[in-house]
Amino acid sequence: MVDRILVVTDDHADADGLSDILSAATEGPFEIECVTRLSAALDRLRAGTTDAIIVDLSLPDSAGIATFDQLYAAAPHTPIMTLSPRDDQTLAMEAIRRGAQGCFGKGDFNRDTVPPTLHNVIQRKRVEAALHMETLRAEIALNSISDGVICTDISGKVDYLNISAEKMTGWLREEARGHPIGEVLRIIHAVTRETAPNPIELVLQENRPMGLNADTVLIRRGGGEAGIEDSAAPIHDWSGRLTGAVLVFHDVSGAQAMALKMAHLAQHDALTNLPNRVLLTDRITTAIALAKRHGTRLSVLFLDLDNFKQINDSLGHAAGDALLQLAAQRLSSCVRSSDTVGRHGGDEFVVLLAAGSNEASAVITADKILAAFSAPHSAPAHDLHVTASIGISVYPADGEDAVTLMKNADTAMYQAKEKGGNTYHFFNRNMDNIAAERHSIGENLRGALIRQEFILHYQPIVNLKSGMITGAEALLRWRHPEWGLLSPMRFVPIAEDNGLIVPLGRWVLREACAQAKRWIDAGLPPVSIAVNISAIEFRQPNFIEGVRSILNDTGLDGSRLQLEITEGVLMRDVESSTETLRGLKNLGVQLAVDDFGTGYSSLSYLKKFPIDILKIDQSFVSDIKSDGDAGVIASAIIALGNSLNKRVISEGVETPVQLEFLKARHCEEGQGYLFSRPVAAAQFAGLLAAHSSDSASS
Ligand code: C2E
Ligand code: MG
Ligand code: MG
Repeated sequence: MVDRILVVTDDHADADGLSDILSAATEGPFEIECVTRLSAALDRLRAGTTDAIIVDLSLPDSAGIATFDQLYAAAPHTPIMTLSPRDDQTLAMEAIRRGAQGCFGKGDFNRDTVPPTLHNVIQRKRVEAALHMETLRAEIALNSISDGVICTDISGKVDYLNISAEKMTGWLREEARGHPIGEVLRIIHAVTRETAPNPIELVLQENRPMGLNADTVLIRRGGGEAGIEDSAAPIHDWSGRLTGAVLVFHDVSGAQAMALKMAHLAQHDALTNLPNRVLLTDRITTAIALAKRHGTRLSVLFLDLDNFKQINDSLGHAAGDALLQLAAQRLSSCVRSSDTVGRHGGDEFVVLLAAGSNEASAVITADKILAAFSAPHSAPAHDLHVTASIGISVYPADGEDAVTLMKNADTAMYQAKEKGGNTYHFFNRNMDNIAAERHSIGENLRGALIRQEFILHYQPIVNLKSGMITGAEALLRWRHPEWGLLSPMRFVPIAEDNGLIVPLGRWVLREACAQAKRWIDAGLPPVSIAVNISAIEFRQPNFIEGVRSILNDTGLDGSRLQLEITEGVLMRDVESSTETLRGLKNLGVQLAVDDFGTGYSSLSYLKKFPIDILKIDQSFVSDIKSDGDAGVIASAIIALGNSLNKRVISEGVETPVQLEFLKARHCEEGQGYLFSRPVAAAQFAGLLAAHSSDSASS
């Protein structure tokens, strides 16, 4: 690189001498330009680059130190050397004090020292300029990043802050300089709120890079906080000596807020903002751990809205949603802040009463909730009345983990529903057994029909006056390979729940009809066969068709078949019931109301329905004893049946007293252990044969 030298002197000998030795020098190459006046020099400086100036301070247009000052002002970054008389260096010294790089003696220029001196001066200036650029670039970079940067000296006193650090700490660089890092960067632990160890101090102690603990919060000067994340590193000089530390940190409040929001969303129900099942399970698990440690109890309430589905279906989802939100509010207002209300799903809520709660406090809360619900809910445009059913389980008696406690509270809730809703019910082990049994019966039922595990027993229906068998009621039994003979009371309700009752009922009907036909074909006295029909079967759209084809297939006369239906079945939908009953009557079959008196039949409908027989429920018959006003209901039903011209059959006749009582009140027929228990088909044939020979011989 060429070094451009501007020589300013009106001493031609000096100008020539300098030109000579510089152009011959090996250090350069130098390019020399000479001017004789200050004004010319200033013009030249304005026009282009100059790497160094050699100036004689006495010029035709300027003399003394003012000459230097003007040049220095015009080119502050260009090195200036003065030319001074060898016997008077005063002015030269003054110029050096003001920024000159040195001086050369006038008149005699040393070939060996002048060129290298000039070269070094220029080089030093270039390095300085480069360093300055470097620093400037670093400064710009540090100020343009969003991370805060703070540097300290070896004693931990702040000597640098970038703009982000100024904003985050609330300290300006100039104010902060010289203050201990702990004052400028005040940090605490987010949870304990205790002062956190300052990473700069640690770095200076240990002389190695360090990260900041998670959950660190920066306290801003003048108030405000921000979660920060950072790392600090030691600063070493060229020789590797520790001279300070640098800390780089950034604000993570935004990211933390987002993470919190995500966590909230994952654990809460969007509609009600209550904890969802995940968080509920978590809270219950935590509460259990606490209760275990302290030997206390806790309770879980499982709540289901009683008529939510109807409201949702009839008023629409918006009303349903509003109702759920109101329910959530009411629930929350019934518990203490230490308790948890969560949405389990649908219209199910769970309340966790904190450790220390017991049956008594659960009852208080349950009552409070029921009372809160009984006030009308005003969903937009509707005043809704909704009640709740609550099941309660208590730790540790009803379960030792969250899932079991919730499941058992749920089971108890069903019990509350069965009591008619708007009430609570405690879980007990018995219920659990019942639930488990129901489950395994349900599972086993599926294959039982194919495995031909069902059989029918037959119980005679007897004419009370003559003692003649007038019919048989077919009663279903399940012969399970392990459990033995199962009563229909144990499995029919389950088959009704899971729909298996339809194929099963059809099998019963076919088997019973086929059996009756076989007895007739065997020449036994003709009897009618009674078959129990469940509500589900009765509601099947092709039920009548099914009965017709079974009668066809088995060849049994319709008048020999008697279908038993309970009152509830008939009353549920009077219109369609009447229609089905008519259809059945058209097949010639007899229709009986089973368990009469236990349902809610309206007497006026009884007259409308084409019913032939009333079967008095056995509870009214067992009521008949020899004393007092016993048997009044049985008497009333017999009288009613007779006046409506229906056949009346008494169920569960067990004693001669009952038999006499019924006979005296003109009950035509009866059924019960007094005559015979339900028996297998072969045995029943035996009974029939014996009766026919009895009657033949009598
Ligand atoms: P149900 O129709 O009222 O049948 C009469 C029940 O009373 C039978 O019980 C019978 O064994 C019992 N019983 C008869 N005489 C006496 C007596 O003197 N004393 C006492 N204590 N009980 C007597 P089972 O066989 O256990 O049947 C119970 C119920 O199961 C039946 O009540 C009926 O509702 C249902 N059921 C039975 N078979 C079927 C069926 O094939 N289909 C449907 N859907 N339900 C059936
Ligand atoms: Mg029956
Ligand atoms: Mg009955």
